This record gives sequence, structure tokens and C-alpha cells, in this order.
Amino acid sequence: MPLTPWSCANCGHWQRYFAAPPDCPVCTDTRNDLPADGWRFLQPAEVRAGIREGRWRRLDRDMVAFSIAPGYGLNGTGWLLLHPEGNIAFEAAPFYTDEMLAEIERLGGIRYLAASHVHGYGALWQLQDMFEPEVLAIQKEDLWLTKAFRVTWPYDEALELRPGLTLHHVGGHYEGQAVLHDEGRRILFCGDAFKVDQDAAGNSLAVSTHKAFHKSIPLTPAEIRRYRAVIEALDFDTVCTPFEHAPGVTRDIALAVLDDQLRGPPGVRHIPMSELRRSATR
Ligand SMILES: [Zn+2]
Ligand SMILES: [Zn+2]
Repeated sequence: MPLTPWSCANCGHWQRYFAAPPDCPVCTDTRNDLPADGWRFLQPAEVRAGIREGRWRRLDRDMVAFSIAPGYGLNGTGWLLLHPEGNIAFEAAPFYTDEMLAEIERLGGIRYLAASHVHGYGALWQLQDMFEPEVLAIQKEDLWLTKAFRVTWPYDEALELRPGLTLHHVGGHYEGQAVLHDEGRRILFCGDAFKVDQDAAGNSLAVSTHKAFHKSIPLTPAEIRRYRAVIEALDFDTVCTPFEHAPGVTRDIALAVLDDQLRGPPGVRHIPMSELRRSATR
């Protein structure tokens, strides 16, 4: 029997397996909660049946955000960065409907595919199956979480996909977490290195950083210093997590969040943007 993709109904994580998998490595990990009522794994047709609509939203700077309604699992967003020499997809939606895949095809397909860490993987496997990108890049520490797709380019500290577009290993939240810096767009695709609290209209209200979001576990000082060392060297005026598009979260704002962590005892603090803007200009 061939291996087929199975998705954990609790978090949405996909694994290729010969039958329903025994467990989900994302949910058994301390950073996530276990399902209260036991495991349930779904095959693609069952996930598809729960989706009312596949969506895409054109953003400025030649970027498209793919998502589904209603949400599923951790419910991330797939970012597609348009480029005349080949598009880059970073992170993925939990599932891609035929309409979403057709839109990506219409926009030129995918040449480079990558994700920050497992919470951003979504249905990356669908994008690899359909578009056969030249490169699927994941930091080596997280390879064990990639049972649903095939990594073609594992990397160590950094990987330049093309000039001005570079993956940097930052660890912290996940051992293999990496950020993607797009120099031309001035965007840092920061994974869960930062969490941005936004209102319904998408205005950013507060920023935090954490080892585990659900359980509010803070990072250690050495982990924060590592984030800081990487981010300090990068110029950006916007961050995109797997869940939020946050213009105005600049490098100085991001550094202010990290400096707050380094000053105080470990703790997940949701620091208001107004406070961060004040410390960023000091
Ligand atoms: Zn799970
Ligand atoms: Zn995460």
C-alpha cells in the first residue's frame, strides 16, 4: 500500500504514512497541547470536505497570501513572493484547493519552497507534488518533522536562495527555526520568533517572543541573544509570521522586544506597539 498524507485533526500537521499514524510529533511536543479526546487523522479528501473556500489576497510588494475558510489546524498562511525569475513560496496554507493551486499556476508556479519551522509547514507537500520546485529548503535540525515532503536542500547556518533572499537559522522557538530575509521587499519572514497581536482590521497592537505560545514558556537569554545577533544585521520594515502580516514591525521594534527580554526575568510579555516605538527611537 503506498504512503498517503495524513493530517492531525488537532494541529493540522501532515505525515505520509501507510495507515493512520500512531501519533503527531507536533502535538506530543511540549510546545503544543495534546487533543483532549485522542488522536484523529484525516486524509486529503476529508480535510477538503471541511473547507468552504480557498482564498488568496494580493498584498503590496508583489506578494500573495493564501489561506482557507474556515480555518483548519494551526491555520497558517502561505506566502507567495512573485519574481520574474521564479516565485518563492514560504510557509504554506493548511490545505490547497484546486482553485488555489490553479491561481499559483497562473502566477507562474513555484521555483523555491521553504518554511520557518513545523508550525509553518501546512500542506507544503501539495506545493512540492504539484509544482516540483527546484529547491525545498529546511534547516537540518528540523528534518525529522518533514515526513510529508522531501527536503532537497538541508542547510546549516544560512542559505542564500538568490541574491537578497536569504534563510538564516535562528533556533529558539524550534531547534531548526529559520527566518527568511527579503532585502528587496524589506520583509523579515520571522516564523514564530515573534508573535504579533492584531485587531480584526489587521492593525498590530503588541509584539511578544516565546519558546511556546500556548503554554507561555519564555526563551532563555542565550536564545534571545542569538535572535538578536541575526536580526540586528538585517534591514526590514515589515514582519510576516506564519499567521500575521505586520507592516510597521521594523528591525528596531523587533530589537526592542528582544532587549526587553534581556533586561527582565524570563517571561512572555505582549509589549504594546506604542511602548516599543518609544524604546525603538531612544
Ligand atoms: Zn498534531
Ligand atoms: Zn511555531
